[in-house]
Amino acid sequence: PSQGYYTRRGGVGENGDFITSPEISQVFGELIGIWYISEWMAMGKPNTFQLVELGPGRGTLTEDILRVFKQLASILSKCDVSVHLVEVSPKLSEIQAVMLTGGKVQPSPEDKSAYMKGISKTGIPIFWYRDIQDVPPGYSFYLAHEFFDALPIHKFQRTEKGWREVLVDTDPEVPDQLRFVLSPSRTPATQNFIQPEETRDHVEVCPEAGVIVQRLASRIEKDGGAALVADYGHDGTKTDTFRGFRNHKLHDVLSDPGTADLTADVDFSYLRKMVQGRTATLGPIKQREFLKNMGIDLRLQVLLQNSRDTATHEQLLRSYDMLMNPEKMGDCFNFFALLPHHRLLHPDKKDKPESKSPLPPVAGFNELLLK
Ligand code: SAH
Repeated sequence: PSQGYYTRRGGVGENGDFITSPEISQVFGELIGIWYISEWMAMGKPNTFQLVELGPGRGTLTEDILRVFKQLASILSKCDVSVHLVEVSPKLSEIQAVMLTGGKVQPSPEDKSAYMKGISKTGIPIFWYRDIQDVPPGYSFYLAHEFFDALPIHKFQRTEKGWREVLVDTDPEVPDQLRFVLSPSRTPATQNFIQPEETRDHVEVCPEAGVIVQRLASRIEKDGGAALVADYGHDGTKTDTFRGFRNHKLHDVLSDPGTADLTADVDFSYLRKMVQGRTATLGPIKQREFLKNMGIDLRLQVLLQNSRDTATHEQLLRSYDMLMNPEKMGDCFNFFALLPHHRLLHPDKKDKPESKSPLPPVAGFNELLLK
């Protein structure tokens, strides 16, 4: 809580330790904004929704989404929208406040759950929390971009004697040096966190991600909405992915703890399991497929046509390549969604011949249908 990376440093962005998609291109957040609008329409345009973002970084993604909401104000005009940010880093919440409200925020001691509140430059109320459980209940669209990979993992190694947990120990030979060791016997974690059907020899499990995804699923089941999770990750196939980044370079996870971003690929198969059928799930689907389905090519063409200078053209093409190229972020980043079961059920025409036309397919996971 006091010496961790996000409390002390939290360097997202070009001048920090790692760069993320919303920091690379405005198009990324715009397409996600369209995803929420498209889901809001498909779900019958409820008259209020909360946009809840977990780990908003510098606030860039929310800023891009709010710009889309403003541009589509005529569609959203009768809808009461509010923004709820779940952020533990004092430094990043300050950066978010400046980005989204121009710094016009106030601590909110009278409201026990939110620690800060303000109004976005586009006039939407914004609240900050430390925990998803503090966010008020209600119809919500959740967003977690590069959030789950930042949460702590347990590591396990299969041995001849069964599963052992990988632990961190001090090195008796070298002062101030940490090292990995295997637990001499089973631990509570080896007994509780490994799936009985596991076939890998080395696994990383993030129980905190499991708990949070369960909370999202319960909230969506009860109050409606949807969640979009985007992160680098795999569907239960990878093994040793734990690594550190400092100044955009790989950094030994055990040296100078608290000074580097520590990250492990998100295991989407684990998240799906933890949903426990409370909601339907879609994906993971590769970032380049999701963005293509959302119309990134069309958006790029419009931006290219709207600008005359070559530097902007080059920047647009470079950032498109960074997001879409399978060798860069196109293949290793994935999108995953939680949706209420009824969103994916197609009305059975035989039983209810009077029923309306079937719900449109979920954008991103299918081509966006522009009406
Ligand atoms: N979504 C942003 C930033 C990703 S970095 C982007 O794509 O640019 C991870 C974010 O999660 C940071 O904002 C960090 O402060 C926040 N974070 C890390 N651990 C957290 C936790 N346990 N609870 C809430 N936020 C957390």
